[in-house]
Amino acid sequence: MLIAKTIEETKEIIKEVKSKGFSTGFVPTMGALHEGHFELIRKAKNENDFVSCSIFVNPIQFNKTEDLKKYPRTIEDDIKKLNELDCDLVFNPSVEEMYPKPDNTIYDFGGLEKVMEGKFRPGHFNGVAVVVKKLFDIIEPDRSYFGEKDFQQLTIIKALVKKLKMPVKIVPCHTVREPDGLAMSSRNRRLTDDERKIAPAIYRALKTISEIASNKSVKELKGFFIQQLRKYPQMEIEYFEISNIEDLSPVEEFEKGKKYVACTAVFLGKVRLIDNVSINL
Ligand code: AMP
Repeated sequence: MLIAKTIEETKEIIKEVKSKGFSTGFVPTMGALHEGHFELIRKAKNENDFVSCSIFVNPIQFNKTEDLKKYPRTIEDDIKKLNELDCDLVFNPSVEEMYPKPDNTIYDFGGLEKVMEGKFRPGHFNGVAVVVKKLFDIIEPDRSYFGEKDFQQLTIIKALVKKLKMPVKIVPCHTVREPDGLAMSSRNRRLTDDERKIAPAIYRALKTISEIASNKSVKELKGFFIQQLRKYPQMEIEYFEISNIEDLSPVEEFEKGKKYVACTAVFLGKVRLIDNVSINL
């Protein structure tokens, strides 16, 4: 497995790979890798000749310095795991390498970036779009793999690629969960033992919502979610929305035949967890 720290050496490697006619897959991450990330790598390995993974904690997508500071970093373990998975290239640049000067590009995704995560983490998706565009320009992948765990991010990346007419196929991947249902996340390792025990309640409530949605109103489902999580005083719901699956606009009423996604962000102690389920009526 090759490990590159600079843009120049990464571009060189990619140039050579492409000159051989190899297809290329790419998995962008912020490291502290877990089974959710590994699934993306495995899928990329199945579908491409050459797979790159980036590990870069992107400062401009954090709207709280505390969150950036506390973000888990486990680069040695990450590299070991990627090697075992037969990943071909790890791109692990420094902040200076990625941003020798500030990148002030502002993206407009027609409102996609303003709801849910965008509402509570201002600037977050702009930071994500800036870094993903930069990474795509460096790696030039044929396919890039994103988790449905970050459903709004996935939708925005698809919009970015469409807007900039980038020649990359965005491949969505199912959310990988712990046996008790908790969505895998790098942030889970910051939970205390007690918090970890109650964390699966978030997905339990979401899953029930997806099961009972067809004979309930949006208002009733929201009420149900709040009621389920109220049992845990350590939990604080930041938002819970049921949104149109295409444009992510939150809805007040269901329309038959349309698809929806229920998305939430919940603080469990100091850790902010997000999750979602699709709703097919
Ligand atoms: P991150 O390192 O958190 O930026 O995530 C990198 C990629 O892994 C993103 O496309 C995430 O959506 C995806 N990912 C993170 N957790 C999971 C999970 N539990 N299941 C599937 N994909 C995930």
